[in-house]
Amino acid sequence: MKKIILLFLILIFGCTAQSDIEYKEYKDQLIETAKRCYDRQLFWGSGGDISVKIPGAGKFIVKSTGYSLGSLDYDRVTTMTFDNEVIEGKTPSHEAPIHGNIYKIRKDVGAILHMHTPYSTAWATAGMKVPPVTQQSVKLLSKCGIVKYHPVGSNELIEEITDLYKDTRIKVVFMENHGVFVVGKDLEELLNNAELVENTARIAYLLKTIGTPKEFKFE
Ligand SMILES: [Zn+2]
Repeated sequence: MKKIILLFLILIFGCTAQSDIEYKEYKDQLIETAKRCYDRQLFWGSGGDISVKIPGAGKFIVKSTGYSLGSLDYDRVTTMTFDNEVIEGKTPSHEAPIHGNIYKIRKDVGAILHMHTPYSTAWATAGMKVPPVTQQSVKLLSKCGIVKYHPVGSNELIEEITDLYKDTRIKVVFMENHGVFVVGKDLEELLNNAELVENTARIAYLLKTIGTPKEFKFE
């Protein structure tokens, strides 16, 4: 009987604790999208990060540093203000200040990710933006940015990426010897944008082995 009562109490208090999690809805969405990104091979190991804005709160939730996007949970995400003050959780990802800055200057952005995918990173490391070679990539990639190499967490890197995102047409910024930043109006659009960037990078690379990739232009 004692065991049953104990089990009942654990169940009651356990459920209460779950429902008391602040911004649970956004954390759940972030964790689920991170897992989808990982399953689609946009991330490996603990590299890269992802965040989602909490509308109207001046805050966002980002991956904590050192964890894989395939294994996020409530203890592996960090809640922060746009000024990069940690409200709740562990040390955030190194690139979190860039996420905060973008949310601050771009009202249209609801989710951000930073990835080290091979084809996009190869183009960036060669000092080139991925050319919009297909009709579906024109809208996303005809206006994008690229920054020179600066160490992770350096002021130069943070400032240069933030500066590029002041232009509201820009959704993608390539980083030499590092990777790429992508934004979306929400997590769903973000995932689609990220996949489109990496797939276009792969197609453009294949085209380069055949001849010279030409940018697609609508007539
Ligand atoms: Zn990185």
